[in-house]
Amino acid sequence: MKLKSLVINGFKSFADRTEIDFQPGMTAIVGPNGSGKSNIIEAIRWVLGEQSAKSLRGDKMPDVIFAGSNDRVALNRAEVLITFDNSDHYLNMQTEEVTITRKIYRDGSSEFLINGQQVRLKDIVNLFMDTGLGRESFSIISQGRVEAVFNSKPQERRLIIEEVAGVSKYKKEKQKAELE
Ligand code: ATP
Ligand code: MG
Repeated sequence: MKLKSLVINGFKSFADRTEIDFQPGMTAIVGPNGSGKSNIIEAIRWVLGEQSAKSLRGDKMPDVIFAGSNDRVALNRAEVLITFDNSDHYLNMQTEEVTITRKIYRDGSSEFLINGQQVRLKDIVNLFMDTGLGRESFSIISQGRVEAVFNSKPQERRLIIEEVAGVSKYKKEKQKAELE
């Protein structure tokens, strides 16, 4: 599975539709302070199901929508699309490519789509669970996260190891089965 492209439209500082096509090899995003580098990473976390507005540096989720600038009015919706090359079928989908879309409107209503089909947040979370790429995965390491792992309690560290090892999905299924 490879990251193919990211489309950001109306999310944070990206008022205009912006597409990043990831080429083979390593991609580095550089730019001056405030140019939107962190916003790109936040767009990726958001489209993969991030539920905490605070961790996206906002108070409430609609704060991710372009809020206007000196010469531009605010927008009413934000949209992010992320496309993976799934030719190895690493994600449990038949398709060669998988596109996840998330949209949010000013009133707080939102939509999730997988390959253009409307789904629930839960479907996105399940699709990425134990792939190393989900909402709580370690594919995105933000400032302070390394320290937090070192300083965490043994129980918390165990959860991290379980997520990395790919057993948390089975644990969740076991818990669910026990309740039924
Ligand atoms: P640094 O090098 O300092 O880390 P950066 O490139 O990571 O900078 P970001 O933090 O991604 O920059 O971008 C910050 C900019 O995004 C600020 O100018 C801020 O005003 C703008 N911004 C954040 N949220 C919104 C929003 N909802 N609408 C419009 N602009 C926004
Ligand atoms: Mg930054």
